[in-house]
Amino acid sequence: MLDADFFRRWMATAAASVDREAERLTALDSPIGDADHGTNLQRGFRAVVTALEKEAPDTPGAVLQLAARQLISTVGGASGPLYGTLLRRAGKALGDAAEVSGEQLAKALGAGVDAVMTLGGASPGDKTMIDALVPAVDALGTSFEAAKAAAEEGAVATTPLQARKGRASYLGERSIGHQDPGATSSALLIAALVEAAG
Ligand code: ADP
Ligand code: MG
Ligand code: MG
Repeated sequence: MLDADFFRRWMATAAASVDREAERLTALDSPIGDADHGTNLQRGFRAVVTALEKEAPDTPGAVLQLAARQLISTVGGASGPLYGTLLRRAGKALGDAAEVSGEQLAKALGAGVDAVMTLGGASPGDKTMIDALVPAVDALGTSFEAAKAAAEEGAVATTPLQARKGRASYLGERSIGHQDPGATSSALLIAALVEAAG
């Protein structure tokens, strides 16, 4: 079973990973965006870690909802409300249980990804974070490892796609040939689950 400690570790691990990869995320956002994805998420996840240390929420749902509030209020770019919605919706789905199963987490993240698609209007194949998140959530039923691999594959598979949502879509065909920064950060977020479960 996964308790609040696990969810705090997940967010802290994700924050550390975003810190390590911030330059790469910003570099990916340079040819097909405005070169701020790494700094956006670094600001957001640092705020998440600070808030979690200060408020110490004691259920999985409360951890995710607090993280969501920080991302929405600090990130600024499109990715803030989108990641915020992912975690807020997932946190809501977990309710106030002290511990949740892997299956419950998979279901909650599925609801979160659906909410992101509703908010942003993106579907799989539009070259967004959805292209990493949808396969990851599908694979979560198998294992965190499988979800990590699926997310990484999904992120890499955005390269030949033409963007149909977000800033990159303004480039039309010129968005082809570049990996999507948001799909790349989504893969980091999912990979952090494996490390948190360690
Ligand atoms: P901004 O584009 O506002 O500068 P970021 O650079 O932080 O925001 O995030 C860009 C990422 O957000 C993209 O790479 C893409 O994955 C994701 N994104 C943008 N718009 C959408 C959308 N409508 N639906 C899903 N994801 C989106
Ligand atoms: Mg950007
Ligand atoms: Mg921006």
